[in-house]
Amino acid sequence: MTSPAAFPNPPPYRRAAPLVIPGVPVTQVRHSRVLQQPLVAPRAGIMLHYDDSSRDDWALAWFDDPRCTNGYTWLALDDGGLAELADPGMRTPHAGACLTKNPNSAYYGLSAATNGLVPVTDRQLATIIATCVALFRFHSWAAASVDVRIVGHDAQAIWTPAYTRAAGIADAAGSKLWGTLGRKVDPTGVRKDHQPILDVAAVRQEVRRRLAPVAG
Ligand SMILES: [Zn+2]
Repeated sequence: MTSPAAFPNPPPYRRAAPLVIPGVPVTQVRHSRVLQQPLVAPRAGIMLHYDDSSRDDWALAWFDDPRCTNGYTWLALDDGGLAELADPGMRTPHAGACLTKNPNSAYYGLSAATNGLVPVTDRQLATIIATCVALFRFHSWAAASVDVRIVGHDAQAIWTPAYTRAAGIADAAGSKLWGTLGRKVDPTGVRKDHQPILDVAAVRQEVRRRLAPVAG
């Protein structure tokens, strides 16, 4: 039998119980190695991503890998399943430097398990939309705020000196990028035929429609 000392009290940043948000269609909970810390700003919206994976099982395995330092709150799978990778009540590292301050806290991280070539499946899209709708209801966010609360990573991620240097861009050229968008291309992607991998505008439109009060 293992002594209690082998299992010290959980670090203080662990919440007693993960936040459960009604209506979020979670099919599996994997609070694995995804780093999570307390929020430093209130939740204000949802940031959409794709994770650049080619297979869902590999994608899920990566979030159990000690080398993985990236983390979303949820990962929407090809079959419409939704993996909860972290406590939704905590922030996870998914955004990097963004136009919005404290983006990991401000935005839940919701990622489609796909890459820059393969558009989301209908089931994946349905799961992403259902998750957004549930979050809007949970927070009592107005339907009119859909356009500012549902954001793509590409519309938020900015270059900083650390990112340009890590990308091997000399400061003479890099300094022109600092503070500007273009650091990330997900979830829209850059397919030659211009088909979005995940169409943020379409997600917003459907979420807005579902939140609208029923006429009559
Ligand atoms: Zn992203």
